[in-house]
Amino acid sequence: MSDFFHQISRRKFIVTATASAGAVLLKGCLGNPPEPGGGNAQTQSTAQSVANISPELAPETKAVKLGYIPIVESAPLIIAKEKGFFAKYGMTDVELSKQASWGSARDNVEIGSAGGGIDGGQWQMPMPHLISEGVITKGNQKLPMYVLAQLITHGNGIAIASKWQGQGIDLKLAQAKGIVSQLKSKGSRFKAAHTFPHVNQDFWIRYWLGAGGIDPDQDIDLLPVPSAQTVANMKTGTMDAFSTGDPWPYRIVKDKIGYMAALTADIWKNHPEEYLAMRADWVDKNPKATKAILKGIMEAQQWCDNFDNRQEMTKILAQRQYFNVPEEVLFDPFMGKYDMGEGRIVDDKSMAALYWKDEKGSVSYPYKSHDLWFITESVRWGFLPKDYIVNNAAKARAIIDKVNREDIWKEAAKEAGIPAADIPTNTSRGVEEFFDGVKFDPEKPEEYLKTLKVKKVSV
Ligand code: CA
Repeated sequence: MSDFFHQISRRKFIVTATASAGAVLLKGCLGNPPEPGGGNAQTQSTAQSVANISPELAPETKAVKLGYIPIVESAPLIIAKEKGFFAKYGMTDVELSKQASWGSARDNVEIGSAGGGIDGGQWQMPMPHLISEGVITKGNQKLPMYVLAQLITHGNGIAIASKWQGQGIDLKLAQAKGIVSQLKSKGSRFKAAHTFPHVNQDFWIRYWLGAGGIDPDQDIDLLPVPSAQTVANMKTGTMDAFSTGDPWPYRIVKDKIGYMAALTADIWKNHPEEYLAMRADWVDKNPKATKAILKGIMEAQQWCDNFDNRQEMTKILAQRQYFNVPEEVLFDPFMGKYDMGEGRIVDDKSMAALYWKDEKGSVSYPYKSHDLWFITESVRWGFLPKDYIVNNAAKARAIIDKVNREDIWKEAAKEAGIPAADIPTNTSRGVEEFFDGVKFDPEKPEEYLKTLKVKKVSV
């Protein structure tokens, strides 16, 4: 261990030890002004709040194991732990477990914490639905899961290898179809990667290519490849595109490996991204602990959305036990500043990763209409059979009603004293619009599929 990390760990140990011995002293030691309800004085307020939890809200257990992937989507989990927001609501023993890949997260939730796995955590969509339905589990065993909150919007994008710089492979894909067709006819297809099939990052690049008239199944090679390998392949010229999340885009541009053709905020502003979901058996057994976890996450999301906190948030996330990246890789994107690498600079906080609120309202509340988009999009590309969306998506809606527990989110929000104005009253966010003008009306998913030019399903 380097001296630097040794010091950090040691300081952390002292702070932790002191906190349990007598947290009141800490505030003065660190020289921070008092901040009611959190902030730098959280260690003290945590100690007080835990003592103040009324018996009817006291969680059934203080322990839970939640998985996360070290990308910006996991920030609410890490911040809730580090700033004491889980502990404030009685969850004093939350273990965050870094997952090597989305496949391992899926395997670990199948095992459960009792077997050394996890009880839930961070997911791309619609993984909780696919796990619940046994579509991506071992032996197609159904493992019921509940979606409890959305963790984030934005924070993802599409990177293109440097060799394509200045040739029109950008958001509008003006020249891209010609380039891709030429490569195809030469027998060396355009190669693109994402990190796990049939979920968000696969959907974002598919939507974007489809809008440009490119069929991701017929015209290019689109494959799941681990992030580090994709970046290495982009460097050597054997990978052309990567659908990925922060902190990768910044590193790709900074190291001149590629440029950013689009942010997901360009493709679909205020789009649904990753979610908190847990095993249904854990939630059913521990309903108060589930709400305590949710309250901790909600408080973390509000803290994350205060841009004055983003420097501190960057420091926390960059640490070795979490993302293990230099702070500079995270900070500018967190402030809505993206050097896209092709002469385009984005400087707009409404395009940054947002955790609690966006221009459309709540980020944290899990809208059922968004689950329906992910399932509709799965049908579009042939990942799920068409029967999910016929009869106005009766089958999809039935699954969503089982998996999406926005009712628990609302109960937790009320208990946490979230103002009524911040608690959505409709499970649908209404009609959504994409960058190419296509609209998704959650009342008519089949109509949406009909308007799309590039698709695998016949409607
Ligand atoms: Ca993502």
